[in-house]
Amino acid sequence: MPKTTMTYPFKIKGTYPPLTLGDIQDNCREAADQKGFVVLGLGGEKRQTLVLGCRTCGEPLLRRTNVVLGNRIECRSCVQKPYKIAAERIGARMISNDPEGDRHYRIWQLSCGHTVRLQLGQMLKVEQGLVDVDCVQCRHSRYANEAEAHGWSFLETSPSQQGYAIYRHECGVEHEAHIGNMRVGQCACPECGPKKGPVSSGIYVFRIDLPGLPVVKLGHSHRHLDRLRRDLKIEPDVHTEVLRYHPMRTKYLARTQEQTAHDFLKTRHPEWVVPKHLFGDAIAVKSEIYRPEALPTIHRLLDDIAERHPAPATIPDNSD
Ligand SMILES: [Zn+2]
Ligand SMILES: [Zn+2]
Ligand SMILES: [Zn+2]
Repeated sequence: MPKTTMTYPFKIKGTYPPLTLGDIQDNCREAADQKGFVVLGLGGEKRQTLVLGCRTCGEPLLRRTNVVLGNRIECRSCVQKPYKIAAERIGARMISNDPEGDRHYRIWQLSCGHTVRLQLGQMLKVEQGLVDVDCVQCRHSRYANEAEAHGWSFLETSPSQQGYAIYRHECGVEHEAHIGNMRVGQCACPECGPKKGPVSSGIYVFRIDLPGLPVVKLGHSHRHLDRLRRDLKIEPDVHTEVLRYHPMRTKYLARTQEQTAHDFLKTRHPEWVVPKHLFGDAIAVKSEIYRPEALPTIHRLLDDIAERHPAPATIPDNSD
């Protein structure tokens, strides 16, 4: 066959490659044929590349001659087909490769019109109903609607706890709550919500007389009486004492108020902080342990917290 040099009429990887017809060796044709491809011509500057067409889907592709002879050839379009079908079944479509260059990921447009980045394999699971897919925008507007129904506005998902979000109450107070609880309206405002109600947490101060190292621990718990032995794993022969407990209506309130106290102590009085290596395994925590000299200040901090957030009327529930 006489040689004809031309440009391939369809784009391959974004360009129209040069194509030389004729002069194709039989072994190349045979190798391509066995792998499901037809050789359309020679390409590349030194004609070291073959322009192939996929017999299954018609997609053109370029492969070096030695690859066609010695390696497996995959048609991208055929490989992607099951994922595209899965996407279509849920009303989505594949719109591009991964901008971050991960070959397992694609960008998909969902039925709502928003786009998500998702692994190819995940799309199969979505189609089988094994996992959910939704876009951040739609999920957040759903959270916003759920919150609105109970007098809250959704601000953002919690940066620290999965399944939680930060909401703002009608009164202006911001509060972190479990998204599922908000959905069903189980979320009392720590400021203007019902003043009576179950105590769900509280801030405690413990004295722990480790041999040669008496310390105090400031923390929060909904069952502080159990906490000394059960959670902190303090040996039974070590003398311990609950110096103070201030019940609070929500875990969030207890945790955030306790945190402000730690922040104050750590920045203003680092000399009171007992480092982990000094108490080691004697107390099963990493931090929140102070020298007894810190006690008057801790009491003062707790007085301030108690003034801002008086204890709820009911008795703490230490049953679980
Ligand atoms: Zn194909
Ligand atoms: Zn959406
Ligand atoms: Zn409120």
